[in-house]
Amino acid sequence: MTQQDAQWLERAVALATANVAEGGGPFGAVVVCEGSEVGTGQNRVTRDLDPTAHAEVMAIRDACRQLETFNLAGCVLYTSCEPCPLCVSASLWARLDRVVYAADRHDAARGGFDDSAFYALFETPRSEWSMPVAHLDLPDAARPFDTWLANAARTAY
Ligand SMILES: [Zn+2]
Repeated sequence: MTQQDAQWLERAVALATANVAEGGGPFGAVVVCEGSEVGTGQNRVTRDLDPTAHAEVMAIRDACRQLETFNLAGCVLYTSCEPCPLCVSASLWARLDRVVYAADRHDAARGGFDDSAFYALFETPRSEWSMPVAHLDLPDAARPFDTWLANAARTAY
């Protein structure tokens, strides 16, 4: 970790704090590429009626729009709070180099957020989840992938 990491993280924390004053959730994030800010995000779940509008997801979307890419390799995500499983996964999909966070899942739990509870859920077998995630094997279940693999013009990601 460097002093620059701390400065970008302070920026994410400032975005999070400002978002509360604007009626949003206490989360902010910044994407930095080659020393420059290329995307920012604030939690927009309640404003946008979008349970996936987490600050990290918003920052990733903003950075991808700015850089006109779906791959953020070479970039770093700074986030005011430890990313939830959704945002860790979004960071992996975005191929970010690193993720740096300030507050952790326990701070989020104190604020009434389920980050820690969802991490705990992922440690338990799906058969014990209150929300079933069920596999139903259809005869043509593999057809989309067969179609994908047969498409020579596909854009891999
Ligand atoms: Zn999240």
